Amino acid sequence: MLGPLVAAIDQGTSSTRFLVFNAKTAELLSHHQVEIKQSFPKEGWVEEDPKEILQSVFECMERTCEKLTQLNIDISNIKAIGVTNQRETTLVWDKETGEPLYNAIDFWLNKNHLKHKTGLPISTYFSAVKLRWLMDNVDEVHEAVVSHRAMFGTVDSWLIWCLTGGKSGGVHCTDVTNASRTMLFNIHTLEWDPELCKYFGIPMEILPRVRSSSEIYGLMCLGDQSAALVGQMCFQDGQAKNTYGTGCFLLRNTGAKPVMSDHGLLTTVAYKLGRDKPACYALEGSVAIAGAVVRWLQDNLGIIGSSEELEKLAASVGTSYGCYFVPAFSGLYAPYWEPSARGIICGLTQFTNKSHVAFAALEAVCFQTREILDAMNQDSGIPLTQLQVDGGMTSNRLLMQLQADILCIPVVKPSMPETTALGAAMAAGAAEGVSVWSLSPEDLSEVTSEKFEPQINPEESEFRYARWKKAVQKSMNWET
Ligand code: ADP
Repeated sequence: MLGPLVAAIDQGTSSTRFLVFNAKTAELLSHHQVEIKQSFPKEGWVEEDPKEILQSVFECMERTCEKLTQLNIDISNIKAIGVTNQRETTLVWDKETGEPLYNAIDFWLNKNHLKHKTGLPISTYFSAVKLRWLMDNVDEVHEAVVSHRAMFGTVDSWLIWCLTGGKSGGVHCTDVTNASRTMLFNIHTLEWDPELCKYFGIPMEILPRVRSSSEIYGLMCLGDQSAALVGQMCFQDGQAKNTYGTGCFLLRNTGAKPVMSDHGLLTTVAYKLGRDKPACYALEGSVAIAGAVVRWLQDNLGIIGSSEELEKLAASVGTSYGCYFVPAFSGLYAPYWEPSARGIICGLTQFTNKSHVAFAALEAVCFQTREILDAMNQDSGIPLTQLQVDGGMTSNRLLMQLQADILCIPVVKPSMPETTALGAAMAAGAAEGVSVWSLSPEDLSEVTSEKFEPQINPEESEFRYARWKKAVQKSMNWET
């Protein structure tokens, strides 16, 4: 007898997944994944079709339920479904027709402002600026706003609205973690901020209701990086995790107090696990291009046929041979926030070949993480002693070893890599009174993880890191 199950919809940049866990043991019982098409209509700009996103969710749910039935698992034991989503991607739809009014968009340019209230530097990375762009540039959006038919949301809001009835009465809501990424949300009062809405000229009636991360909305939601923090059991002040997906996101729990960064990091709501529970905050550092550089090597340069091939190619040389690759394709995020930076590959010699470039691409992900970790250590004053990791790229063992070498601290990877989905399922389970906490965090880290210890001496690591920093400076000043 299996007992209660909890599930998660994990809607990422490159794919959608539906996963079902045993609520008592956190064991992943079944899942299904569908790729999402992305279009890149202009530089630094990504669009996805909201209907395709919704359809992919249906397909994943159906296929996973079929697989569970084949395993003789009764799907009526699924007691709660959580949603975890790509955060800043912005959508507007018509509440009367249920139709999206434009593709889901993601782009960024940058300026520093309003950080005090929102915890964020001003950047088109956050939803408010994308929403403003939609209102100014898409007639359908403008008309729907003027005639009070528009609904704004991030992907979580769109999915929950559709899955709870859509135009015949869907719930229009989001959670504090997603709201805190919009630039319209005051992270201290935990409410939409009228002044910020006025600043961006956004009518408050189009905003979703903000709820905690673990409440029965019909479904529960949690921004993807917050869900990973919960799934990694980082509930204590000072605990941190890094997720290696299309981008890279390092979050450190700072407890009940929002810590403002002096080193280019963001302050964000980590979670609020219940209506009457206090909000927990995090410092966050984001790297724009992590797994995306792997896609670029595959799709643009054609030096690998699949992301799995990268490890073999890089391992065949085991060094970048002095080559440094800064993949600042659309600027640099934390800690630089420099939109005009562009990618560079430097240190090339006659001897350099594609394997060295592949190795340098992996190292780039590790160096960028080191920059964020250094900033975090300086902001908090307490150096992190080990890093918990998850995300698609962590299946690359060479990358994990390089990361430990470059950080000079152990890197710990759970053997069940779907921590983001687990976090969302846990939040959903908690709201339904189904607890997934029967294993203590210590038990989980002992039993189910793999540890990568640093293997090179710190001097070598510092040498390579110093070279990397020089390359970053060049990527920011390459035109001058
Ligand atoms: P997201 O949630 O952003 O969609 P995922 O966590 O699913 O991302 O990770 C997908 C990313 O990881 C892709 O960009 C892919 O190129 C990269 N990736 C997957 N497997 C590997 C691997 N073995 N080596 C390097 N990169 C990988």
